[in-house]
Amino acid sequence: MQRVFNFAAGPATMPLEVLEQAQKDLTNYKDVGMSVMEMSHRGNDYEKIHNHAKETLKELLKLDDDKEILFLQGGASTQFTMIPMNLLEKDDKASYLISGSWAKKAYNEAKLLANPEIISSSEDDNFTYIPEFDAKKVNKDSKYIYICTNNTIYGTAIRPSKLEKFDINKPLVADMSSNILSENYDMNKFDLVFAGAQKNLGPAGVTIVIIKKDLLSGISNIPTMLDYNTHINKNSMFNTPPCFAIYMCSLVLDWLKKNGGVDNIEKVNAKKAKLLYDFLDNSKLFNNPVKKEDRSIMNVVFTTGNKDKDMEFIESATKNGLYSLKGHRSAGGMRASIYNAMSYEGVEALVNFMKKFEKENS
Ligand SMILES: *Cc1c(COP(=O)(O)O)cnc(C)c1O
Repeated sequence: MQRVFNFAAGPATMPLEVLEQAQKDLTNYKDVGMSVMEMSHRGNDYEKIHNHAKETLKELLKLDDDKEILFLQGGASTQFTMIPMNLLEKDDKASYLISGSWAKKAYNEAKLLANPEIISSSEDDNFTYIPEFDAKKVNKDSKYIYICTNNTIYGTAIRPSKLEKFDINKPLVADMSSNILSENYDMNKFDLVFAGAQKNLGPAGVTIVIIKKDLLSGISNIPTMLDYNTHINKNSMFNTPPCFAIYMCSLVLDWLKKNGGVDNIEKVNAKKAKLLYDFLDNSKLFNNPVKKEDRSIMNVVFTTGNKDKDMEFIESATKNGLYSLKGHRSAGGMRASIYNAMSYEGVEALVNFMKKFEKENS
């Protein structure tokens, strides 16, 4: 069987070129005589891969020198705990924008440790829009603002042009799991950013954390593995890092750099999203429930409005080599995740198939 177009939300499609490079290196990496999987993480060969991944990420995101890049385990979900644990004392406040269920999960974890507050939420309309950010609603004692820039499940995003309003002289923390490196955000506006790798960066198993060094205020009694300082002080090698996942990310980052970096992929991503949204806006069968200005360019949700028809579409698409289009169980309908590694041709194939399906079902 040939490779399919994989629209999965994560783990997600990766560039074929990267997979082939990994295959070539699999048993004998650069004539070292062993696989990256078999190398000591304390050895020179691995250390080069590790530092190269960091440098390439720093370059692609145009990060200032006061930012530290960490490679951690436990998924993006562990950051929901680590953030309040490292930034809040027991009675401290923080402000959360509840734009989807990942942000809500982060808020609920913070509640176990401190006193987070909700700025606003769009749950009343099943997260089909980005809730309003009113700076006046932020408690003056709040220690940070927490946002999720791309809501993977609901297909909404806080696009770069909307970031400015969060600039209110408080640390800005962002979950960018599903749109890091997809378009040009001013990354130095954030004090802490995290992203599970399995959406736009590589395979599952590593989470990227970018943290401004002076954000940590010296809270004590943090369990060692959950303390950012532990990992900052040891270049993410306090214990064994997920070496192979980091190596795969380094290949993806090289691929992105070779293809013009974020400046170029942003154009490709915009073109892909436009193709799909333009079709949806003119379709008599499919529709997208998201408020237009809040549309994600990474996850595009749509439905026919009829559950059986949706299921028929998903099954028929699968038979035609268009995989994993089923929406998240909490949103229903369909979702096409069109991350960096999804080609324009993939989106074109999807739109052509949708046109055909629409014709046959009208
Ligand atoms: C997938 C996802 C997560 C959860 O990631 P895990 O690595 O599975 O914990 C968190 N936030 C967002 C925005 C996501 O898309």
